[in-house]
Amino acid sequence: MELKIYPDPVLAKKCADVEIGDTSVVPILEEMSKKLYEWEGAGLAAPQVGVLKKLVVIDIREEPATLYKMINPKIVWASEELVDSKEGCLSLPKLRETVVRHEKVQVEYFDENFKKQIVEGDGFLSCCLQHEIDHLSGKLYIDHLSRLKKGRFLAKFRKLRKEAEEAEKSEDTREASNNEK
Ligand SMILES: [Zn+2]
Repeated sequence: MELKIYPDPVLAKKCADVEIGDTSVVPILEEMSKKLYEWEGAGLAAPQVGVLKKLVVIDIREEPATLYKMINPKIVWASEELVDSKEGCLSLPKLRETVVRHEKVQVEYFDENFKKQIVEGDGFLSCCLQHEIDHLSGKLYIDHLSRLKKGRFLAKFRKLRKEAEEAEKSEDTREASNNEK
């Protein structure tokens, strides 16, 4: 499993519902959970690893530790109260931006045994649930920004990516010339 970075087109696609009882998604959820910890994220949605299925894993690193493995999660209730949420995304590395989210949400999903579950989250968990479920319809958190702010964000993001690429390239050249010696 490889992390998909913006502007990978897979991040803008809509995911399909998982058929109830389709156990082929269980190892995918397992692998996504491993990657979540490896990449030190709070949540990971399937499109971020190139899988267009409604799968999400979340662990917001609270005590007691809870790892949510979700199949077909959907928001069934959202509070009218809104909050500012400072967010980042593994697919948009190094930058963060504040977006507006519902303070509380209720999410219905199936666990890996295809048992229906409901979770009510507030604060960070609520924002995380909304962020990950957005990914399933091809939406990124920066899509919640004004056009102006999103434009500024993307300009900064492209600049950072270019710098990172150039640093990598000069690293390669150095390595190549070292090897020639
Ligand atoms: Zn994300």
